[in-house]
Amino acid sequence: MKAIHVSNPGKNSTLEIREAPIPQPGPREVLVNIKATAVNRADLLQRTGHYPPPEGASPILGLEMAGVVEEVGDEAGRWQSGDPVFGLLSGGGYAEYCAIHEDLAMPIPRNLTFPEAAAIPETFLTAFQVLDWLGKLKKNETVLIHAGGSGVGTSAIQLSRQLFGAQIITTAGKQHKLDTARKLGADFAYNYQTQNYAEEITGRLGPGAVDLIIDFIGKPYWHKNMEVLAMDGRMVYLSFLGGHKMDDLSLIPILKKRLHIMGSTLRSRSLEYKIELTKDFAARTHSLFAENTLQPVIDSTFDWTKTEEAHQRMQNNKNTGKMVLTGM
Ligand code: NAP
Repeated sequence: MKAIHVSNPGKNSTLEIREAPIPQPGPREVLVNIKATAVNRADLLQRTGHYPPPEGASPILGLEMAGVVEEVGDEAGRWQSGDPVFGLLSGGGYAEYCAIHEDLAMPIPRNLTFPEAAAIPETFLTAFQVLDWLGKLKKNETVLIHAGGSGVGTSAIQLSRQLFGAQIITTAGKQHKLDTARKLGADFAYNYQTQNYAEEITGRLGPGAVDLIIDFIGKPYWHKNMEVLAMDGRMVYLSFLGGHKMDDLSLIPILKKRLHIMGSTLRSRSLEYKIELTKDFAARTHSLFAENTLQPVIDSTFDWTKTEEAHQRMQNNKNTGKMVLTGM
C-alpha cells in the first residue's frame, strides 16, 4: 500500500508518499480501505519527534479514518466486507489501509460522506470524554470552552448544547471563529486577543460562574480560569499551547473553591477504555449525526499529496474546525 512517510523527523521534517506493508488484521481486528483521514495537532508534534506513538501503535501518522471494511479477523464478528466504518486510531491513518479493533469501528450514519465521518472521531471522542466522563457536565451548568474555533472546541460546543443542555462560554482569537462558535451554540464568545474573558464573564454572570473549563492553553489562562471557576468547579487540561511553566502560581483557589484540576491524553488510554468510550459515544450520538443535529465542522479538504499544506495551515492557527485528507 501507499502511506505518508516522515523523512528527517525533527524541525525540518518532510512528508513523502512511499510504499509500506499492508497491516495484517489481528483476530479481533478488521482491515479497512481508508477513504479519508483528518489532521490533528498530534500529527504536527509527532513529525518533529516530540510525540512518539504509544507502544504497539503504527508509526504512520493519523489518528482517525473513515473507509470500507475489506477483510475481517478470524474472531471478529461485528462487520462484513463492504461495511462503511469510521473510528479512532492510535496511528496509521495517513495510509491506504489500516487495521482497527472491531469495537473501535463505528457505523457511518447514512447521511455522512467519508470525509465528514473522518472528521469526527478524534475531536468528538475527546470532547465527549472531557465533558461527560471527566468533567461530569450537568444540565444547566456553565461550561467554558477555550479555543472555540478548534477541532475539539467546535465539537465540544455542539455536544455541550445537544447532549448536556449547558450554558456555553467560549474564547477564540479571531472574529470568524467566534462567529462559528456562536452558530454552533455558544451563548457568549470572547476574543482573548482584545478582551479579558474573566472580567467579561464576571461582569455578565457574576463571580465564580463557571462549573467546568476545557483548557488547551495553560499558563496565560491559569489566573483568569481560577477567577471564574465556581465552588466545586472542574477544569480539564488537554494541552498547553500557551506554555506550561509558571512562577507565580498560587494553589489557594484549589482549596478555597474545592476544585478538581485534571489532565488527559486520549491516545495513551488503554484499548478497553477507548472501546467503552467509543460504545458510549456511538450510542448517544449516532442518531444526532444521522439527523444533522451534530455535524463535524470542516475547515477544508486536501488531497493527501498536499498534506504538507494542511499541516502548515494548522501550524499557523488558520483552520476553523477540521482539515480532512482524501485521495488515498
Ligand atoms: P486546532 O483545530 O489546531 O485548534 C487549535 C487552536 O488553538 C488554534 O487554531 C488557535 O485558535 C488556538 N491557539 C493556538 N495557540 C494558542 C495560544 N497560545 N493561545 C490561545 N489560543 C491558541 O486543534 P485541535 O485539533 O482542536 O486540538 C486542540 C488542542 O487539543 C491541541 O493542542 C491538541 O493537541 C489537543 N488535543 C488533546 C487531546 C488529548 O487527549 N489530550 C486530544 C485531542 C486534541 P485561535 O485562532 O483562536 O487562536
